[in-house]
Amino acid sequence: MSSLSDAAPERRLPDSADVVIVGSGPAGAAYARILSETSPAARIVMIEVGPIVSDPPGSHVKNIADNAERARAQRASEGPRPQDDAASTNTMDDYASDAARLWRPGTYLLASGYRQPGEDGLPAAAFSSNVGGMAAHWTGACPRPGQSERIDFVPDLDELLDEGERLLGVSATALADAPLADEVQARLARGFDADRPADRHVQTMPLAVHRTAEGNLVWSGADVVFGEETRANPLFTLVPEALGRRVIVEDGVVRGIDVEDRRSGEIHRLTSPVVVVAADSLRTPQLLFASGVTPPALGRYLNDQPQIVHAVRLRDVEDAPTGSTADSAITAQSGVSWVPFTDDYPYHGQVMQLDASPVPLEGDVIPGSIVGLGWFCAKDLQESDRVEFSPDDVDEYGMPAMRIHYTLTERDHRTLADAAEAIIAAGELLGDPVGGDPITFPPGASLHYQGTVRMGEVDDGTSVCDPHGEVWGTRGLFVAGNGVIPTATACNPTLTGVALAVAGARRIARTLDALTSK
Ligand code: FAD
Repeated sequence: MSSLSDAAPERRLPDSADVVIVGSGPAGAAYARILSETSPAARIVMIEVGPIVSDPPGSHVKNIADNAERARAQRASEGPRPQDDAASTNTMDDYASDAARLWRPGTYLLASGYRQPGEDGLPAAAFSSNVGGMAAHWTGACPRPGQSERIDFVPDLDELLDEGERLLGVSATALADAPLADEVQARLARGFDADRPADRHVQTMPLAVHRTAEGNLVWSGADVVFGEETRANPLFTLVPEALGRRVIVEDGVVRGIDVEDRRSGEIHRLTSPVVVVAADSLRTPQLLFASGVTPPALGRYLNDQPQIVHAVRLRDVEDAPTGSTADSAITAQSGVSWVPFTDDYPYHGQVMQLDASPVPLEGDVIPGSIVGLGWFCAKDLQESDRVEFSPDDVDEYGMPAMRIHYTLTERDHRTLADAAEAIIAAGELLGDPVGGDPITFPPGASLHYQGTVRMGEVDDGTSVCDPHGEVWGTRGLFVAGNGVIPTATACNPTLTGVALAVAGARRIARTLDALTSK
């Protein structure tokens, strides 16, 4: 990997490439990795609007042991409106907060346009602008979609998910020995497993994390997705602090992209037959709009997973268990268990044993005994839920300003009411509530917004791209990330987004092979 990070301010961006990738989160990184593995002769340029904030580039800020250094990395990821120095560095701090616009370190909220009069809007939708994207700040939960969450026109989905797990370094064992994790799972299993197929039983949450030989946890970010294969690829160039302004499309064929060097302010034309836009589910359609690529479904079917949280204290645990592996000091939570989504139980349950109680408690707290439950719901998909872009107004990066139209339907309200009962019932299997009733987070808070560049089997106006992520009618333009997921999912989407990116990267590799063998 060569990086144009240090050659500033007079650095010169490349003039041409075989593939340009916009955005350095896990979806963009998956393209870089698969192409590095399969097309070693391809010249790949990745542009990222944010700076490098961690070493290796894209790595998770939770792996930075020093608190002040981690805070600097988080603030540097918060785009045009970073928080001040006193802001939190712990993403679990607001686990049980009822803030109207819930914010998490390393991210920034939309300044305006997040809610229209009479609608629910997405007041908590947020972005990260840094090498590694939001995956430098995420929790790393990587469940597989199940039943109606799956995409029935992607026949090789399981193999792609295997690849996604390989790229993200997913493990179901790294935290399995956390204090009381087995007890949490046993109690939940007694309540849930009887009527479920085996793959939907209560289980340890697959997480993108591994332990070093010394026992420290290392959270996967885009650095793990890049892997040594990308870092050692001399034909891969990462350009941080560079904004994709406009993809150049002539007669339905991609010719390149105009890139703004955020250091000099200059616009640079980068020619390339392939451009992959992996710029998150709100900024990917933004760049397409700015490029004049506006298929009817662009920005539509926007959906985020309505989320309810609750906390309990495990009942009947007498003492700290023995024989558990001590967590490294820099993890915010220990055991994570999973109650999978099913069509009969349409919630994705993420059960986290918290480091600290969300509310002050009397007496000593046994490690692992405070449990946060987060129930994510599948949204009732509507074409009218959408992000629109202004032809006149611009955002802080000078890109078309966003206006979110978003409403929860009657069905969504029923689902949320049922989820509140379901989460209380799940909590009762474990212990006694702490902190009162469950809290419904404001829309957008799951940070799992998706659907805006959804894939489809055919070009019937309800999708933006084909099952490989190539935009209908625009040869060489690919879209990637959670935005391509067409189903209403309740499970955390990143694994699925990365799996679908693998399919797109393989398609590009085949096209490049065909070109070079001519
Ligand atoms: P991103 O990671 O958002 O990366 C997109 C990148 O594109 C950004 O770096 C951005 O700066 C860049 N970009 C945007 N526009 C442009 C442009 N025009 N030019 C150049 N660059 C551009 N997901 C899960 O599945 N499981 C979890 O447990 C989980 N927990 C989370 C916890 C937190 C606190 C947060 C913040 C997120 C969490 N997520 C989780 C969400 C997860 O991080 C995202 O789903 C994932 O990062 C999306 O990957 P991506 O590559 O599509 O987009």
